[in-house]
Amino acid sequence: MCVCVCVCVPQAVCVLVLAVCEAYVFQAGQLSGDVEETPPQSRGQSTSTRLCVHVCVYRIRLKNCVLLSDFSGSCKGRCFELKEAEPPSCRCDNLCKTYLSCCSDFDKQCLKTAGGFECSRERCGEIRNEDYACHCSDDCLLRGDCCTNYRPLCKGENSWLEGDCEEIQSPECPVGFVRPPLIILSLDGFRASYMRKGKSVLPNIHKLRSCGTRAPHMRPMYPSKTFPNLYSLATGLYPESHGIVCNSMYDPVFKANFRLKGREKLKHRWWGGQPVSHDSAHTWVIPLERRILTTLQWLHLPDDERPYVYAVHSEQPDTYGHILGPLSNELDNTLRKIDNIIGQLMNGLKQMNLHRCVNVILVGDHGMEESHCERTEYLSSYGLDVDAITLIPGSSGRIGPKNANSPYDPKEIVANLTCKMPNQHFKPYLKQHLPKRLHYANNRRIEDVHLLMDRKWHVAMCVSLCVCVSPATCGFFGDHGFDNKISSMQTIFLGFGPGFNFKTEVPVFENIELYNVICGEKMLPEVHLLHQETLAKCIKPEVNLSSYAATINVMSCKLMKTLIFIRYVTHLAFGRPAVLFQTSYTQLCHSDYCSGFSNVINMPLWSAFTLTAQVHFSAAAESRYEASLITNTVPMYPAFKKVWSFLQRDVLRRYSLENNGINVIMGPIFDHDHDGLRDTEEMIKEHALGSIFIPTHFYSINTRRDTHILAHTYTERAATSVTHTHTQRYTYTRTHIHRESCNSREDESRWVEDLLKLHTARVRDVELLTGLDFYRSAALPYTRVLALKTRMRTFEDDV
Ligand SMILES: [Zn+2]
Repeated sequence: MCVCVCVCVPQAVCVLVLAVCEAYVFQAGQLSGDVEETPPQSRGQSTSTRLCVHVCVYRIRLKNCVLLSDFSGSCKGRCFELKEAEPPSCRCDNLCKTYLSCCSDFDKQCLKTAGGFECSRERCGEIRNEDYACHCSDDCLLRGDCCTNYRPLCKGENSWLEGDCEEIQSPECPVGFVRPPLIILSLDGFRASYMRKGKSVLPNIHKLRSCGTRAPHMRPMYPSKTFPNLYSLATGLYPESHGIVCNSMYDPVFKANFRLKGREKLKHRWWGGQPVSHDSAHTWVIPLERRILTTLQWLHLPDDERPYVYAVHSEQPDTYGHILGPLSNELDNTLRKIDNIIGQLMNGLKQMNLHRCVNVILVGDHGMEESHCERTEYLSSYGLDVDAITLIPGSSGRIGPKNANSPYDPKEIVANLTCKMPNQHFKPYLKQHLPKRLHYANNRRIEDVHLLMDRKWHVAMCVSLCVCVSPATCGFFGDHGFDNKISSMQTIFLGFGPGFNFKTEVPVFENIELYNVICGEKMLPEVHLLHQETLAKCIKPEVNLSSYAATINVMSCKLMKTLIFIRYVTHLAFGRPAVLFQTSYTQLCHSDYCSGFSNVINMPLWSAFTLTAQVHFSAAAESRYEASLITNTVPMYPAFKKVWSFLQRDVLRRYSLENNGINVIMGPIFDHDHDGLRDTEEMIKEHALGSIFIPTHFYSINTRRDTHILAHTYTERAATSVTHTHTQRYTYTRTHIHRESCNSREDESRWVEDLLKLHTARVRDVELLTGLDFYRSAALPYTRVLALKTRMRTFEDDV
């Protein structure tokens, strides 16, 4: 699934990525249909309630397995060579550890640590010692293997950090650099709020952030775990589309388990996107400093051998975030260390005169939340037949059958887990009923039953785990994987270098959109990181026009025409939604609303109306709200109607008062196959009850009329939190209404709004689900339109 911005970017050519730790291939594509047969494995339970194992993802062109290698060769002079040796030779590239095919002296030759990774005063001008990790001898500049602080320390030059924050208008590269290289440094579990620690803890990151382009924070994909998110960064796809739906998963077709530990994950069949490459993932064994040094070494290669993109992954601060918890002050030591290594990178670049040439992206995969064993829900206390099911436990819960023969009725399991305890810390869902914004349904590796956990809470089976997770032996104070809109799950994005704007803040965005930045021609983030000319090409042609124009023309009365025009301007304040698929519909404008009425499914595709702040709360006003309800023409279940009426009568009225009037567009959604995309009319008819077409969801897009203020949404943190109130969007699931809210027997004011907030979505999500295109008013600059379409109001406290 792709956001609009994908469409207008020229097809990416950034193909091969090599990194010391982590390498991605940046290619879009579909999930591989490639199915291999392997012996069935029993499906065990993961114990991810405990510490994550920290792993790097590799995606690089590799030939087949190299287990037949002869390991007796040497890595002398071959360390981190860019081509892996063909069997039977042993390997010295950065993936040889993963494939257990390194030469026997790889560690000795390539992972030297002697002397440390920095020069000290005593070492300046030393006699070259080949056993050292990096050098401080007088010939190191010439040989390109100095420690990164050689020049500042031994030559008295300014370090990168001491230099001014300068605008880099265009790349200033040494001879031989045709294209500015790009270094992507991903920091595992870097919660966005860590940035508040400021210069004293994070001086280098702070400088990169303030001198380059930054987002207040970046939203990970759900589940907010490492593997799904690193791979979303690399492919620009949702986890349900690229196939890495969590760190552990079972594939019912492969009949195999993917886990952080074990070799199954090395098989390329798991990894969606371009299936031409062989993928692997492995536990990190090489120190981050070594990875930085190796990146710098590769930058010394001649232009025709040198890679263009370098991706380096740091497993910190995640590991210590888990152990200490995200709010622990002790975490500052880890953060200082990471910052210092980033300083090494920048000094190393400066030493090579590349600091005004290379583009650097610093990005996190997810945040970190406080978490502890004491806050665990145990499924065994819910009266389930725990012998028949399997649970992937932790910060999200997925329940599948124990094995192919186990009785497994997803609806029954959900019913048995719904509103059972007074203070239940999860909501059970059939995956197709999860909030649409999570995009977590359309993959066979996602089990039918999903438990959306409250922040800070875990779920476990408690057959044997109860004993080992007593508070005294818990072993962790932090975790992630929760709902990706939660503040603590947010992570960082910053870009620095000639491709990025100087001292600029862009709005919050989702990590799948970063793919466009990396693969786009320019890395100049303006709203969603595209520049104006490209944006102009984004506006999609309307596939079919309604019969509106015809209606206007047959009216002879001028006054009538004027009246309709006024209604049009009032209710369609941001332009008429365009229908991007072939159908037949009629546009109607009443005094209370305008709508696009489908002649195929006999209901409005959209209804639009504007609410002013000067609403008098009289009976007349009530009737106006009733009149604008689309429920008269669209079938809704009674329980859902309760929610929708409350939205219109209460919630929208309040937003209108708070925001000096709002524009509202509502309509039905049909997504029976829960792929996040509009069903075709044939599919809609298949699911109809006789002549009645029943939507799976409804949407309401609520926009503040005052777009002038919207233009300021991405200037300051404080402003951002205020202006978030200007656009509110929801999609809302129909089927589960009474079940999702355990207090739904009470007055609507006690539960409906929370439910709506849970089902908030991006306008872009609604567009994909309806085939409509919103905000087409010519008065809006397209950058602002993109901001409106891709922003999601999270209803969370400030990050
Ligand atoms: Zn982790």
